[in-house]
Order: sequence, then C-alpha cells, then structure tokens
Amino acid sequence: MHPAKTYLFVLAVVLSLILRPFTAFSQANPAVPATVPPHLDHFDVTQVDRSVDPCVDFYQYACKKWIAQNPIPPDQANWWLGSKLMIWNQTVVRDILEKASADNPKRSPSEQKIGDYYASCMNETEINAKGTAAIQPELDRVAALQSKTQLPEELARMHRITFTLAPGTDSGSTGALFGFSSGQDLDDASKLVAVLDQGGLGLPDRDYYLKPDEKSAGLRQRYVEHLQKTFQLLGETPVQALDHAKTVMELETSLAKVSLDIVKRRDPANLNHRLSIQEVRALSPAFSWDQYFKSVNAPQTDHYLVMTPEFFKGVNQLIATVPLENWKTYLRWQLVNASSSLLSEPFVDEKFDFYGRALTGQKVQRPRWRRCVQSVDRDLDEALGQEYVANAFAGDSKQRMLKLVHALEAALNNDIQQVDWMSPDTRKAATAKLEKIADKIGYPDHWRDYSSLTIVRDDALGNAYRSGEFELHRQLSKIGRPVDRSEWSVSPSVPNAYYDPQLNAITFPAAILQPPLFDPQSDDAANFGAIGAIIGHELTHGFDDQGRKFDGAGNLRDWWTAEDGKEFDEKEQCFVDEYSGFEATEGVKLNGKLTLGENTADNGGLRLAFMALESTLSSENRAGTDRDGYTPEQRFFLAYGESWCSNATPQYLRMQAQSDPHSTPQARANGVVSNMPEFQKAFGCMKGQPMVRESACHVW
Ligand SMILES: [Zn+2]
Repeated sequence: MHPAKTYLFVLAVVLSLILRPFTAFSQANPAVPATVPPHLDHFDVTQVDRSVDPCVDFYQYACKKWIAQNPIPPDQANWWLGSKLMIWNQTVVRDILEKASADNPKRSPSEQKIGDYYASCMNETEINAKGTAAIQPELDRVAALQSKTQLPEELARMHRITFTLAPGTDSGSTGALFGFSSGQDLDDASKLVAVLDQGGLGLPDRDYYLKPDEKSAGLRQRYVEHLQKTFQLLGETPVQALDHAKTVMELETSLAKVSLDIVKRRDPANLNHRLSIQEVRALSPAFSWDQYFKSVNAPQTDHYLVMTPEFFKGVNQLIATVPLENWKTYLRWQLVNASSSLLSEPFVDEKFDFYGRALTGQKVQRPRWRRCVQSVDRDLDEALGQEYVANAFAGDSKQRMLKLVHALEAALNNDIQQVDWMSPDTRKAATAKLEKIADKIGYPDHWRDYSSLTIVRDDALGNAYRSGEFELHRQLSKIGRPVDRSEWSVSPSVPNAYYDPQLNAITFPAAILQPPLFDPQSDDAANFGAIGAIIGHELTHGFDDQGRKFDGAGNLRDWWTAEDGKEFDEKEQCFVDEYSGFEATEGVKLNGKLTLGENTADNGGLRLAFMALESTLSSENRAGTDRDGYTPEQRFFLAYGESWCSNATPQYLRMQAQSDPHSTPQARANGVVSNMPEFQKAFGCMKGQPMVRESACHVW
C-alpha cells in the first residue's frame, strides 16, 4: 500500500514465512548456544582473495573467501554479511522479550504487551492442543455465508483481523481479494486519503500465474498441491481438497490477469486515480462498497485513491460470475494462509514446505524464537522498539550518524551543482528538494500509544488478529487528516533503511547503526564505503526514476524541464541495459526496468560516498592514511564490496529476479564499480577489463 517507499533491502513481506530470510545462528552452528549473540563482523582486509584480479571480478576479489567460508545454513535461503547483524539484533530483542514475559507485577503496560505476545507465540504446546479450534469461529462464519451480498462484510472482517498478517508488497496487498488502508494523497502529500489497491494472490506476483516456462509451471503444480494439503488439514478428503485447490488456483489466476504488473506499478502516475464514491461504486457495482466501508469502520470521505481501477473492474466481473461456493473456498484459503504461522504444527510445516522449501530453497525452518521475535516486531513495533533503544542503542551513535548524513547531503548538493546536463531551473528545484529532505535517525521522536490494544498470554492467534484490527483502525482513522511527518514505517530494531518520497525523508533505524555497516572501530574510508554508501543510496532515491517525480513537499509534480527530463530518462536507459545483462541464477536474467530505481540509488550512493570521503581526506594530511597495505580509496571500495558478500539458493535468486526491485549482490557490487573511474584508478584497472565498462552509466 506504499508503492513509492523504497527500502535498502526487500522489507515488504512477500509472505510471512519468507520474511527477511536471515538464518538462525544457533542452528547453523550448534556449538554456539542460542542465548549467546553472534559475534559481529568488522571490515577486514584479510578477507580479500588476492588470487582474483579486482579489475576482472571485484565481487569475487572482495567476497570469494567469505563465500567459501559461509555456506548457506539449512534454515536459510539467503545468507550474507549482514545476516549476523540481523541475528545479533534478534538476540538482543529476545532477551528483552524473555524478561518482559516473566511473571512480574511491576511490568510496565508496554512490557506486559510485548512479553505476553511473545510468550503466547512461543507456547507451541498450547497452540498445538487448540488445533483448528483457534480458527474455527472464523471458518464457521465463512461457511455460514448465504449470499454473495454478504461478501463485503466478510471481506471487511478478514481485512481487519489479518491486516498485519497479510501486508502490502511491491505487487499489491497479500490479503484477501484487495487491499484497503490510508496513505498520503499523491497530489497533495499533506493529506491522508483512503487507498484501494489490488491483491488477493497467494503467489508472490501476478507473473507466477501467467508465465509459460517450465519452472513456473512446476511451481504452480507445487502450489496446487500445497493448497490441497492445506484443505486436507482442515478435514477434507483428498478428492474434495484437490477440487477446492483447483477452484482457488482458477480464481487467483483470474485476479492475476487483471492485476497491474510490477514494472508498471513503479510509475506513480499509473497508480494515481482519484475517484469519488460514486465512481468507486460504478467500478464494481456487483460489490457493495457502502457495506464494505461500513463494516471495515472507514470514515466517510470525499474521494478514494484507487491504484488499479482495471483490477476492480475485473473483480466486479468475477463477483458477478463466480458462484458463492467458490468464493467461500477462496476465503477459507485466504484466512488459513494468513493465519497458519500461528496455528498448530501441521499448518506451520505445510506452509513452510511450500513458501520456504519450494519457493526459496530453504531446507529447514528458522527456530521458533526468531519467528516470534519477528512477529512481535511486526505487531508491536514501537512498544518493542522503545525497549530496544533503551537497551541497545548507544546514545552517541545518533550524532556520529548525523555527521555522516550531513557529509553525504553536502556531496549530493555539490553533485547537483556540477552535473552538466541540467538546466538552471531544474537544478534550482533539485537543490530545493534536497534542502527539504528530513533525516530520521535511530528512533521516532514520540512513541505510538498501544493502550487500546489487548494482548493476552494464552491466545497467540487472537493477539495477532487484535493487532491487525488495531493497526487497520489506526490507519483508517487518519483518512481526511493532515499527515504526521514524524511517523516511522519500520521498527527501530530492524536493520534496514528507507527513503519515503511522499515524506521526502530518509530513515535509519537504530538497528542498522552497528558493525559491519556502521563501525566506530573502523576508519572513515571503511565507514564511508559501507554506511556512507547506504546513506547516499537513500538520498539518491529522492532523485531516481520514481523519486524525481515527487517534489520537496512530497507531491507528485513534474518539476523538471521537458528537456532535462528527457536527458535523465536517456541516462537511466544506460542502467536498464547494463543490469538487464546480469544473470541472477542460471537462465534467469535481472529485469533492468524493475531494478532501475535501486540501481540508480546504488550507483549514486557509492559515488556520493566517495565524494564525501575525498573531501574528508583532502582536508587533512593524507600521509599515513594507508592501512594494511591498502589506500583509503581501496579500503572504501573493499568495504562496499564486502557489504554485499552473500550466498543464496538458486530458488531464492529466481524469486528475487522476478519480484524484488533490488538487484542480486554480485550485480550490486560489480554493476556499480564498473561504472566508476574512481574505482578503476584506485585499483589500476585498464580499458578493456571487465570492471571498466566501455560506456559507463552515470546519472548522479
Ligand atoms: Zn533502495
């Protein structure tokens, strides 16, 4: 539901089981007891593999040793240098949650909520004993539907309880049929409006239903088997269950056909449809929107932002023609799919078998404590974040980080003044936009109030449902109100970062301000190459193919002269062509159009970080700045390269290439440095070598 927000790594949860797949350190390495946080990596030049020529394959030069030493743990599909940081954070969070879950009359209201949520999630014995009884009242309501006129009310109920369990992704909502929430008006970012978006699919993106190749067909077959097994777990015979599985597959395929594709969704103009209630009614007359808005408790409003009108026309056709029994089957599946991570073991295992094993190649589940830590982070993010910051955030990190951010902002300002392809008018507007970027570091200024949310100790699924209702209510109550620019969209305890074009803000949660990305022990060169490049990446998002369409106030407004816009698009085409040439895994190329914004940000980010480093170095005596036989420039690029060292399964890479706007790590390293004369100079690369692109791409 936030199509324009751009994260450093994929954060949008495709499906709850493939949420940010970092591994369980304790299982990967049985010698380490689960309670000991993993040792955090620091930048280390001894990781360099000197048998590789950095000018031939810089990624291998920086990462070959790491790749050999760090095989993918079995409960992991993607394992990279930052994975340990993720687990380190989760271990800190677990300690907080274990303390908060202890029976102690002096617990604060926040501690009671996060502690009891965690305890109920961890209580597998009780969850298993309940079995399907936990979800039976919801299933009964679906079974009792008598007429298609009751669908709006039932969908409203499902959207409320599964709101956090079935989140939005770059492809749309993962909840039943469609998504509904609030968001900033694209034309007037100061206001919050009601937002309707496509959704309703169980596979990660529409193309999974439609692509004719053999691998996609095989995955669809596995999906139908998974649907069948899930229906069997609900007590159906194999024959009935197969019949129902086919019904769901058919309905979802019809939804996929009317869904807007992920590349077209990158252009905010394609999503900006301002409709009155009469126009919304006219889109899908077979569906009572009035009933739906009433049941979901949405306030009355003048207009709706309908991101995908064609989708809702298609939904109308389906509601008119598909029999009620098929809708009931579909709703049952959607309900169980959203809920199964908090149902009994057979449901959890079956879900993992498809979404983990088949879709991403992960061999075993992450330990339960890590899944529960992530659930608390999702449903009580700021209650937990507040405790996390009090326990784990070094106060001076914020000031150190601000200094780096200001250095990067100064570099971007210099760059904007220097580029030779911009006219004075566009340059002026770009400068004004840069000046308005807000820097959010560490944690929000004020914490969310959860006092109206009830969390109890013995009701894992109920806690998640009530959290969903709380969050949807919170979102819908914003409709028609002015925007709160201080709000955050990610928990302080999640190591990620993002740029929000409608708030025109960059955000760095406390959790990312740790080694190896942010490291007080390392020199400036290493820090600029790691966290500096990330800051530059987020700033550049304000000026990538998506971000450039928003002005400094966050409004979708074209502030470019026609000529400068054309020039920009031509320069961007260079990235489209370059990255379309990278292979994600055997036989699967990256989609240069899907990854354009992230590639622009990676390239701009590293170049800006380099400019910032150079201005730091030139202002002091450079003598003695070589360390361990490497110049500061070499260390800078090595810190960047090392930050992308990773191993991933072929299945994961295939999924990433299809549905993730971020390029694969090898491309994120080599794709950028091969465009930079600064890199080629630092390592003495010659024309004609692979890391020296003949026609280098350069936007920022
Ligand atoms: Zn990004």
